[in-house]
Amino acid sequence: MDTGTQAVGPFTELVARYGPRVWDTLAANVPRDLRWNWLLLMLAIAVLLFVARKGRGAKGADGRERPCGFVEYLLPRDIYTHVSARVDIWLWVFERALKPVWALLLLGSLGPFVEKSVIGALTAGLGAGPALDTSFAWMLLYSLLLLLSYDFTFFLLHYAEHKIPALWAIHKVHHSAEVLTPLTRYREHVLEGPLYSSAAAIGYAIPAAVFAWLFAGSITQITVLNVGVFALLFGFNGAFRHYHVQFRYPRWLEKWLQSPAMHHTHHSYLPKHWDTNMGVVTSIWDRLFGTLYIPEPDEHTPWGLGPEQQPGYRSFWQNVNGPFRDWYRMLRPAGQGNTPAPVNSRSSQIS
Ligand SMILES: [Zn+2]
Ligand SMILES: [Zn+2]
Repeated sequence: MDTGTQAVGPFTELVARYGPRVWDTLAANVPRDLRWNWLLLMLAIAVLLFVARKGRGAKGADGRERPCGFVEYLLPRDIYTHVSARVDIWLWVFERALKPVWALLLLGSLGPFVEKSVIGALTAGLGAGPALDTSFAWMLLYSLLLLLSYDFTFFLLHYAEHKIPALWAIHKVHHSAEVLTPLTRYREHVLEGPLYSSAAAIGYAIPAAVFAWLFAGSITQITVLNVGVFALLFGFNGAFRHYHVQFRYPRWLEKWLQSPAMHHTHHSYLPKHWDTNMGVVTSIWDRLFGTLYIPEPDEHTPWGLGPEQQPGYRSFWQNVNGPFRDWYRMLRPAGQGNTPAPVNSRSSQIS
């Protein structure tokens, strides 16, 4: 019998043909914070915090700090079995499926458009650029400006999302998380993707254009993510911002950089915490806009939208429909029998 021509079932053939491709796609879409190197770093820091604070510093699903054993400290049952943690997963899958579309449409078109416009304006106003020579100092300055520019555009958009009712309706989905898990970072409404892609395109394109003009295009296109210290800052902020273990910086440093634990207050539904700490990397913009809030050690931060709003934002579909429900209420003329829109913006949430 010739085993070389042994028939292969269609299922086996399909798996053999498409399996690696499916796996590659899945692997490429694992969020940065959930890749093994960041998970290991998170684990190492969480273990150090556990030892240094003798089992203190982790919060439960109620946002209250409590002493706990090692396993509970790293993976608290009440957080990881919470319905909010499950909804995080589905919202992430849904959002992730559409993300490449926004990135392609906006980073691919808006970024180059802004870049060309800025270079065009500089050339029209000041003539050809001075064609400076690049050096390490220039590259560092370039990275710093890229970071600050991105940080500022992110802050502005985030600030607008908290203050403008129609945008708060979209951003509310991120704030409807009742517990914080590393996936909560990616918990956003599908309509939020294009907003942040646009902000990133504009935030990076402006300094990139200025430097391309200054260096006649010869400056190496390095991104902040390739510069060690910035990569670490982004990493810490990203990985620990939505983790129940509080990772703090010294108080003086928190006035300059957003420590991950400062994001715990951003997600709290207590009125004194609303609209605070909206920065992503630095605290500069929060200070300028008067929204900086440095929490007390182990400050209670109950997460979510609060008892009144939360029941409307528990399931996956409630979250997907959320903005449409709010917009409909906002547009509906106030008349007899109509209940007023429950939320105009976070600041006017009191009802
Ligand atoms: Zn927010
Ligand atoms: Zn968040």
